[in-house]
Amino acid sequence: MDLHSTHAPTPIPCPSCGDVQTHDVATVVIVSENPELQDEIRRGRFQLHQCPNCGHTIYLITPMRYFDAEQGLDVLLLPEAMEVSWRAHLDTPATRVVFGMEALTEKVVCSAADLDDVWVEIAKIDCFRRGVLGNLSVDRRPRIHKVDKEGLHARRPSPFLIRHTRFEEIQQHPEAWEAEFKALGSDPYVDMGRILLPGA
Ligand SMILES: [Zn+2]
Repeated sequence: MDLHSTHAPTPIPCPSCGDVQTHDVATVVIVSENPELQDEIRRGRFQLHQCPNCGHTIYLITPMRYFDAEQGLDVLLLPEAMEVSWRAHLDTPATRVVFGMEALTEKVVCSAADLDDVWVEIAKIDCFRRGVLGNLSVDRRPRIHKVDKEGLHARRPSPFLIRHTRFEEIQQHPEAWEAEFKALGSDPYVDMGRILLPGA
């Protein structure tokens, strides 16, 4: 592969006060070249920026490719606003497309823990169906940010845990999740958002 980690100056408006600043934002991250960036992404610190004008904190995002040959991850990161029209933005083949930095963190964390991301999304749907997480909505989608001995941890809608025992139990009954598996596992957009967002 002749790709290298790359960044480019990009003007990005603050969503809170509208102040536009130009930032050096990554367009390509090659993990073998910059393992420290993978670590920043896993810790949720990558391109996390505080607006000097109003103090609002945002992730600086421009379309970015994330390659981790060791984990077999080839992810296209796009701004959240592009989620509904994701097909139009997938101009180069990627194994995964994600919207927003938290979604990238989730893929990186789950891949490092050898968890199949289609089953991760199904496990979240299972939580909602069991009423553990209140109503199912796009904004309340949990994002896994840590996997440890107990299970999969998310901060949203409020901090919660999918225990490994439950995660394994779900996978033992694939017949119960046939429709979801088909809907979520057929292309690079592996996110419960595609079930929740009209048109996605
Ligand atoms: Zn601001």
